[in-house]
Amino acid sequence: MLSRLRDLERRTRPRDPAFAAALARRWAGLPDVVKTPGQVLGRFAAGCEGTHGVFPACNLACTPCYHSRDANRVRVDGAHTREQVEAQMALLERERGPRAHAQLIGGEVTLLPPDDHAATLLIMRRHGREPMSMTHGDVDEEYLERLVLGPDGRRRLRRVSFAAHFDMMMFGRRGIPRPPDEAALHPYRRRFAEMFARLRRRHGVRSFLAHNMTVTPANVEQIPEVVREVARMGYGMLSFQPAAYVGDERRWRESYRGGDVGPDAVWAQIERGVGRPLDHHVFENGDVRCNRTAYGFYLGERWHPFLDGDDARDLATRDAFFRHLSGVGFGGTPPAVLAAKLVRLAVGRPRVVGIALAWLVRTVRRVGVGALLRHRPRPVTFVMHQFMDAADVAPAWDLVQRGITSDDPGVRATQERLAACHYAMAHPEDGTLVPACVQHGVLDPAENAQLKVLLPMPSVRRG
Ligand code: SF4
Repeated sequence: MLSRLRDLERRTRPRDPAFAAALARRWAGLPDVVKTPGQVLGRFAAGCEGTHGVFPACNLACTPCYHSRDANRVRVDGAHTREQVEAQMALLERERGPRAHAQLIGGEVTLLPPDDHAATLLIMRRHGREPMSMTHGDVDEEYLERLVLGPDGRRRLRRVSFAAHFDMMMFGRRGIPRPPDEAALHPYRRRFAEMFARLRRRHGVRSFLAHNMTVTPANVEQIPEVVREVARMGYGMLSFQPAAYVGDERRWRESYRGGDVGPDAVWAQIERGVGRPLDHHVFENGDVRCNRTAYGFYLGERWHPFLDGDDARDLATRDAFFRHLSGVGFGGTPPAVLAAKLVRLAVGRPRVVGIALAWLVRTVRRVGVGALLRHRPRPVTFVMHQFMDAADVAPAWDLVQRGITSDDPGVRATQERLAACHYAMAHPEDGTLVPACVQHGVLDPAENAQLKVLLPMPSVRRG
């Protein structure tokens, strides 16, 4: 009994010393250019994580495709996935601390048998990771039920997170193999979100859904319409990724560069869809040349930021939030444990309660009491993530490996972005973490060539 109480006391301590140490290490390693007042890395989170080399194959064809040309020659193998994810998560836990969000990503996650998929999510949770499964969204409801319920029909996952990638450059989706435009995909986006609403109603499984979309000159002007429609479908995050020259060059179909698909242009299109400016400096995740983020919520048709970047009092609230809540570890902490941590924090630092209440009153005034009474708030985060071209990453990474900072402003900018990378992948074989840009742009081809030998596709017998 005493030891259980001690364990409870330790788990509900507001600041987790291991997490606080990981944050301090992360902050110390960031380049000065990203140490801005709104920087989240090193203050609140150590970054986002992803898996690699665990199930590279996919059954759609996209242009561009970030996977190397051998990816589809690697057999999906549940035992390999579990073993690799275990090793990668153990390293991430050691290096990045006990709590983080991590993406179960590779090729198409639903090519994994449901039992292996569920077991892998549980491995990630055991390492303090809140997993998000990355899919193209062409999934049957039966698969999702078998994922969350297990062979005995009993619920084995109470909560799942999925990021579904939908855009008109993806070919082979059942029912719409060649989408003529983004709007034609809306029924498929809606169907995907509705399956999770039913999972909740029928089986009590909660979910968080993100919607990802690659942006090229072909669909950039359709972003506002996508934002307006998809934001009401049940997705909690809408992420737009300007295309980069990464992966299989046979799938690079058009020019992905130019003013119309640069970060500013894409962000402006998102703002058009939201119907208001989005301040991406209030919170910054790594380098803003890689990531832009705006956190907020819809009330009816109107989106409101959690913090108003034009209000000095809101910015002071953010600073206090970083000061007092750093090291708590929100991502991946079970809700009941998190609530207990916050209660203990409030008791120890009553000033925090005053700051939070003042923010709450300001926010209610800003959005209007009437709107709050009429509508339930729906949190929706907007993201733009710009991967870098493999041709830029390779030389910059080579210099990083040799401890050289380039004099060339372009190469140095790439090095800074890599140093501030928000999205890490783990290599247990040598104990290193690498940015996802390095994984996809530099390491994937050799890794998949090895996997093709280790996990060959079953050969088809003739005659
Ligand atoms: S370095 Fe690459 S993977 Fe990392 S945050 Fe920047 S664009 Fe993303």
